[in-house]
Amino acid sequence: MSTVVVDGLALAQELRERMAGDVAALRAAGRRAPCLAVVLVGDDAASASYIKGKRRACERVGMGSVEHKLPADTREDDLLALITKLNRDDGVDGILVQLPLPKQIAPNTIASALDAAKDVDGVGPLNAGKLLLGEPGLFPCTPLGILEILDRHRIPLEGAHAVVIGRSMIVGKPVSLLLQRRNATVTMCHSRTRNLAELCRSADVLVSAVGIPRLVKADWVRPGAAVIDVGVTEVAGEIVGDVDFEAVLGVAGLVTPHRRGVGPMTITMLLHNTLLAHRQRTGA
Ligand code: NAP
Repeated sequence: MSTVVVDGLALAQELRERMAGDVAALRAAGRRAPCLAVVLVGDDAASASYIKGKRRACERVGMGSVEHKLPADTREDDLLALITKLNRDDGVDGILVQLPLPKQIAPNTIASALDAAKDVDGVGPLNAGKLLLGEPGLFPCTPLGILEILDRHRIPLEGAHAVVIGRSMIVGKPVSLLLQRRNATVTMCHSRTRNLAELCRSADVLVSAVGIPRLVKADWVRPGAAVIDVGVTEVAGEIVGDVDFEAVLGVAGLVTPHRRGVGPMTITMLLHNTLLAHRQRTGA
């Protein structure tokens, strides 16, 4: 069995070029470019690097971006006041509050305060509800990127058995719902799931979003299955995925590497959501 190794970066670049063209067309028509506001609370090094990547990605497609950096001891009320200001700012199309937040701030309170029309990370209750109801909305970026990868590689989803490991609000749950919307039969697994290996072996599409290095072994993978590795864990200064990548080569039909796999697609879908939010808000 030869395994297709997904080039998430190439796919991301192709989509970003197309979006750059869309933004240029808006500008040429005399409209302003879409604009993303990113909020970072605290000085977590990984978060700072993620938001830098997001800002650079915006710039490269011609979108605007504004950054708000708040100290680690920011009170929830002060963050809510900033969210209210950004909600009211007509020049801002998308708002992303980088997670994790310091412990004095409840993520769900912040997510609920976001204007749903600007909630480009799809974390608020209205967009989560729309996903559940099968209505259009702004949905979490990593799951959208995963669906894009599967579609680009023509992985059949209708009637397929999809096993998702992880049930977070940003990856596991929304990707399960998106797969189910595409008529896959979805099994959602988590830390209390029994017979995880056996369930995984029955998957046509296996998505792992856990954060345990090399959790998914070669003998968990059905020959020919599509394996999407979302996990990112730093081990001795190196980034390691949830999937034992080398071992699944020759077993899986398709696999995403932990570098140049899902990651670049996550940022790309954030740009996609910002453009979508801009179009919906301005009618452009
Ligand atoms: P999370 O909120 O920590 O959720 C992890 C999930 O894994 C939970 O549902 C947990 O189950 C489950 N789990 C933990 N141990 C398990 C085990 N032994 N067997 C089966 N399930 C287990 O994480 P997340 O935010 O979804 O992120 C997951 C991983 O993806 C992390 O490594 C993160 O860094 C990475 N990530 C990558 C991208 C990207 O763009 N590449 C984007 C987002 C996240 P319980 O619910 O029972 O606790």
